[in-house]
Amino acid sequence: MKVATFIQPYEMTVTETEKSQIEESTDAVIRVVRACVCGSDLWWYRGISQKESGTFAGHEAIGVVEAVGSDVTQVRPGDFVVVPFTHGCGHCATCKAGFDGNCQHYQSGPIIGYQAEYMRYRNADWALVKIPGQPEDYSDDQLKSLLTLSDVMATGFHAAKTAEVKSGDTVVVMGDGAVGLCGVIGAKLLGADRIIAMSKYPDRQALAKEFGATDIIAERGDEAVNRVMELTGGTGVDAILECVGTEQSVDTAINVARPGAIIGRVGIPQNENMNTNQLFFKNIGLRGGIASVTTFDKEILLEAVLSGQINPGKVFTKAFALDEIQAAYEAMDKREAIKSLIVF
Ligand SMILES: [Zn+2]
Ligand SMILES: [Zn+2]
Repeated sequence: MKVATFIQPYEMTVTETEKSQIEESTDAVIRVVRACVCGSDLWWYRGISQKESGTFAGHEAIGVVEAVGSDVTQVRPGDFVVVPFTHGCGHCATCKAGFDGNCQHYQSGPIIGYQAEYMRYRNADWALVKIPGQPEDYSDDQLKSLLTLSDVMATGFHAAKTAEVKSGDTVVVMGDGAVGLCGVIGAKLLGADRIIAMSKYPDRQALAKEFGATDIIAERGDEAVNRVMELTGGTGVDAILECVGTEQSVDTAINVARPGAIIGRVGIPQNENMNTNQLFFKNIGLRGGIASVTTFDKEILLEAVLSGQINPGKVFTKAFALDEIQAAYEAMDKREAIKSLIVF
């Protein structure tokens, strides 16, 4: 089978490898129907974080179950499923509390390699999310939206949930990548009244508005803070979705927060040291982390996609075949695509 493989920074290729198979009784093997490139993949693609040469890539997919281990009873071969990047067991204390992205039975080992014809999936029984029908029953646009449920939509929603967005809130969304744009959708789903999206690119601004943003701020840093203060009569906002991870973004999030606001953070932290004293002096809450993908899909997001209430698949602005994997990464690296889709 073919799988996307990292060679060195700025160089991806497709290699042939042995077809994925069941190794543990809790596994499933999935035939991938759609996969994609994540904004977080760009950290190692650009050489900012380390990834070993020759390792497989991808952690977002939808597909059809090909085989299941003996302990898997909730899905069976032939089922169409969302394949979350998280692998929650569904029965440990953390999963039960709704944080399946931090499952206590998480096993190290290959959780990547979704940009492939087939893949092995751990903790399949609870973590996979069954989609009614078969891939052929859905339009290309619907398949795109279903694919976002494997990570990006759930991660954007996680930012809104951990920031405790509620009806009537004024919210700032930091980051106009696919996660930030899905954060706009998440804030709207939770009832935010005013959603201020920080974005300097016209195509992303337009999509943010389509997803529910009421205001756009193109400035960065202090200017961005001033603009938010102008828009809120000097008070600051109730909740901030931090979907970037850089020091400047977290600083801006803190500075636009009204006292008592909560920051929901899903941008992967890029600075190891952070001074939290400013949070104390404004009673600001800081939460966030790895998204509860399966929990949110089952609770709200799958139904919201199936009913057409949300259309997060619009973040896929370019499509590629697996053999074009280098071009798929380049398009995101050069900001020619908001998110690159891989069609099998
Ligand atoms: Zn991802
Ligand atoms: Zn668990």
